[in-house]
Amino acid sequence: MNSPVRAMRAVGLDEPFFARRGEGAYIEDVEGNRYLDWVMSWGPLIFGHGDRATVDAVRAAAELGTSFGAPSEAEVELAAEIVDALPSVEKVRLVSSGTEAAMSTVRLARAFTSRDRILKFAGCYHGHVDALLARAGSGVATLGLPASPGVPTATTKDTIVCKYNDVDAVASTVAEFGEGLAAIIVEPVAGNMGVVPPEPGFLEALGQLCEASGALLVFDEVITGFRIARGGAQERFAVTPDLTILGKIAGGGLPLAAFGGRAEIMDRLAPSGDVYQAGTLSGNPLATAAGLAVLRRLRDPAVYEELERRGARLEAGLAPHGRVQRVGAMATLFMTGDPVRNFDDAQRADTERYAALFRHLLERGIYIAPSQFEAMFLSLAHGDEEIDRTIQAVADFDS
Ligand SMILES: *Cc1c(COP(=O)(O)O)cnc(C)c1O
Repeated sequence: MNSPVRAMRAVGLDEPFFARRGEGAYIEDVEGNRYLDWVMSWGPLIFGHGDRATVDAVRAAAELGTSFGAPSEAEVELAAEIVDALPSVEKVRLVSSGTEAAMSTVRLARAFTSRDRILKFAGCYHGHVDALLARAGSGVATLGLPASPGVPTATTKDTIVCKYNDVDAVASTVAEFGEGLAAIIVEPVAGNMGVVPPEPGFLEALGQLCEASGALLVFDEVITGFRIARGGAQERFAVTPDLTILGKIAGGGLPLAAFGGRAEIMDRLAPSGDVYQAGTLSGNPLATAAGLAVLRRLRDPAVYEELERRGARLEAGLAPHGRVQRVGAMATLFMTGDPVRNFDDAQRADTERYAALFRHLLERGIYIAPSQFEAMFLSLAHGDEEIDRTIQAVADFDS
């Protein structure tokens, strides 16, 4: 497999199923089994698999050429769509993966501040960027890897890891290292240790500490962007970061991600500035066509009202069977009775029980993430029927 999060060993299966096609909320494997899908390509598919408008847009774009190596109008249109959705983003650059966006954001933040240190949070994942793999959540947590061999100590020596939702820890770190701190990078709602919402005041405090120390506040909204509100967590919690990382939904299911923020910072990027960043397939015409086909429909507020209603239905139904943590269209059923505020709490969940639930659901044609430390991704293709069937199957497991 080409990404370790697709493995199913953590939930007791030697091999994953191999996907053949997807339609709406369902995914079909090569043996013809059909699963109700809560993974949804790990977040991008807000309108479900095989969304007609996306497929048509990609097909039409492909007829005109699959890559140009010159700027194209669709890139500007997608950038405009992103800038309109996220007021903190004045300028944006398109890239091909969230990892690439996070890596470039760190470089840009370091260049802009002329500082090296980065503060991140345990359990937050920002792609497999060397400097950001420390206590990274997601697949790194599922596989029990502390970080990764092959990452030189020199690369991580400037990475400081704090506990999520722990303002005091961040404040004392900023007091100690503030002068050398380039950025605080955070998933404003954590999705890669399972869903962990920011406690009231947490994101605001990060903003104040950045302002006081001259560090940049970076929101990694690769999951939350266009998912928990059109303008992501920054809209939902009304906190303004300096830089934002986007991916997943922004690319409509094709390889596309982005980073953007204050014009003054973004202007440091080449060719207007001196910070180098480039990509052969950046702003690829198929990917921008898919992104536009999706983002344009997200201007309708009814989308988020509906996702909220369905999310609440899912949450209420699952609540008797564990600890459900949800923000909008992302949720995790933790196998614990206690609130999960950070990575340590998440790791206390009963992963054996989660594995048993996974197998129980898969046998009944329901596919949840093969790891406790991930989210269920609700889409507009998940109707009440799909939600209720899932709730019933979880209740059957519990009884
Ligand atoms: C998925 C993810 C990334 C990495 O994106 P890729 O496209 O997989 O490289 C970065 N940050 C967060 C919060 C993510 O969930």
